[in-house]
Amino acid sequence: MRDHQLDRFQTQVAELLLRHRSVLDVLSKLQETSARTNRSITKAVTNCGCLKVQAGKQPFTSASNFDTAKDAVDTHLSGDLCEHCRDVVVSEMGKHLFYLASACNLLDIHMRDVIEKESEKLSTLGLFNMS
Ligand SMILES: [Zn+2]
Repeated sequence: MRDHQLDRFQTQVAELLLRHRSVLDVLSKLQETSARTNRSITKAVTNCGCLKVQAGKQPFTSASNFDTAKDAVDTHLSGDLCEHCRDVVVSEMGKHLFYLASACNLLDIHMRDVIEKESEKLSTLGLFNMS
C-alpha cells in the first residue's frame, strides 16, 4: 500500500464516521472488530475446516539467523483459507482497520506515521525481540 492510499483511506473514514463520533463508541467497536477478526479465523478451523490448528510447546532455539529460527518455530497452522473464509477474514480485518483509522482521527494521529514508526522500530530490533 502506498502512502497516499493510506492517507486516502483515513480521510474516507473521517468523512464516513458520523454514527460513531464518540471516542467510547470507537473504542468499543475497535475491540469488537478485533474479536470478530479472531472469530472469523477460528470459524475457518471449526466450521469450515480449510484451516487446521495443531499446537504444542515451542522448542527453545538458539538459532542466530532468521531462516534457521523460522524452521524451528511452528505456526501450529496447516491448510489454506478457502475463498469464502478468506473473504470473511479480509472483510473483518477491513472493519477493524476502519475503527483503528477512526481512533487515529480522533487523536489526530496519521496512520502513515504509526506504520513508519513501527517499521523503524522493527528494523532496529534484533531477531528475537519481535514480540
Ligand atoms: Zn474455509
